[in-house]
Amino acid sequence: MTSAPSAPLAGPEISGTGSMDILFRRMREASRNGPPPSVADRKAVLDSLARMLRENGPAIIAAISDDFKGRSETETRLLEIVPALGAIRHAKRHLASWVRPQRRTVDWAFQPARAWIRHEPLGVVGIISPWNYPLLLSLSPLVDAIAAGNRVLLKPSELTPAFADLLAGLIARYTDPGRIAVITGGVEVARAFSGLPFDHLLFTGSTAVGRQVMAAAAPNLTPVTLELGGKSPALVCPDYPLDKAAGSIAFGKFLNAGQTCVAPDYALVPAGRERDFADAVLARVRTFYPDVAGNPHYSAVISERHRERLLAALAEAEAGGATILRHGEDRGGRVAPSVVLNAPPGCLLLREEIFGPILPVAGYRDLEEARAGIARGERPLALYCFTGDRRTEQRVLDGSLSGGVTVNGTLLHVAQDGLPFGGVGASGMGAYHGIDGFRRLSHARAVHRIGGINGFERLGPPWGRLADWAARLLTRRPV
Ligand code: NAD
Repeated sequence: MTSAPSAPLAGPEISGTGSMDILFRRMREASRNGPPPSVADRKAVLDSLARMLRENGPAIIAAISDDFKGRSETETRLLEIVPALGAIRHAKRHLASWVRPQRRTVDWAFQPARAWIRHEPLGVVGIISPWNYPLLLSLSPLVDAIAAGNRVLLKPSELTPAFADLLAGLIARYTDPGRIAVITGGVEVARAFSGLPFDHLLFTGSTAVGRQVMAAAAPNLTPVTLELGGKSPALVCPDYPLDKAAGSIAFGKFLNAGQTCVAPDYALVPAGRERDFADAVLARVRTFYPDVAGNPHYSAVISERHRERLLAALAEAEAGGATILRHGEDRGGRVAPSVVLNAPPGCLLLREEIFGPILPVAGYRDLEEARAGIARGERPLALYCFTGDRRTEQRVLDGSLSGGVTVNGTLLHVAQDGLPFGGVGASGMGAYHGIDGFRRLSHARAVHRIGGINGFERLGPPWGRLADWAARLLTRRPV
């Protein structure tokens, strides 16, 4: 903790919008007065966050599991705590080079001069995070915002209240409340939060709420990064071993019981092979999760309302003639892993992001048909393409657009600190992680320093022959 001390306001007791406004105003005031925090200072805050994670692993795991009423301990450790620490490590390692001013060229017409870019902190960044990976999706943008030298107000989801309270307390204990504070509360608090005149607002959640957040930010001209969801397809090309693809798709789909923004939403396989593929997925599922209901490695669905939505979607598909293959029982907050064949057109499973452990499988006659089907829909957050043939890979990538892609696997493009993570179109705007997050949450400030003579000003006014000659000369320059 190295930034200027301020009154210890943050903590789990912060839930009213009055204290939120005060915190925001203090942060804003501090961000407008004083130099940007040094690299050492930012690293010290990142170190505090790392210490917070290392010293409180069991409490974090327990709180998230309480909220889910059964979240796999290993998933919280491996998919949340480990990547959050990875983001901190990556930022610390590269921060000095990210912050370093970048020289830019100056045209001879403006010589003698120097030009460069300074990546400046924006000021106060707001972060709204969802419930599905409540730690990682709070910490990962927080790390980027701190690396960029900002102050941060963070609003976790009301669907993970135990975690939100814990995080608020931990952040207050490990960091300076003038630098980072957590606001807890329900949707009303979230709505008021998104109306604060932040210097940037980073929202992770559904496309529907993303629209509301952008509308709330517009009157303040607050720039937004929207990390949204959508239906991410997994396309198994004819050359790729079906069984191998089934294993990767089952892995990506059933982690966190399908409540992963980049989970493969549905699978496309060569026509006639749908049933073989479905059987291969279920065979994998049986080895991953021999039983479902009480299995501590198979996460529960976050709430009864979410469970009911998923079960109703299955019932609707079945009533419309779909074949549903399942493993295990819907008990103990769990929804049994399910594969759906012949889902009827227009049913919820094909219309909306599923966000649960249900995998519809459809057949395609030729790859062009599959590609065109993907390209017709909203642009997805992720695309998974399984092929060993580079030309096929190129054809699929050229003919579709998504936030990111993993070829011959699922999810792992998101785990790369060197790659930007973000959506496109309905799946979001703007990307973060690593240098892309640092830049997204910085202002690239242009600086031009003029040398001993300012040739341009010498031309006039009053404009005379010298200016006319210069204009003619510059117009004739090769382009
Ligand atoms: P959600 O949109 O319901 O809620 C997200 C956050 O928004 C919560 O913190 C909530 O308090 C807040 N919120 C709710 N109403 C609000 C309003 N009117 N104004 C401002 N904030 C409001 O999303 P969710 O159910 O928590 O998460 C699931 C969705 O998030 C899925 O669509 C999933 O794909 C998406 N998601 C995307 C990513 C990504 O990185 N792209 C990651 C995880 C989840």
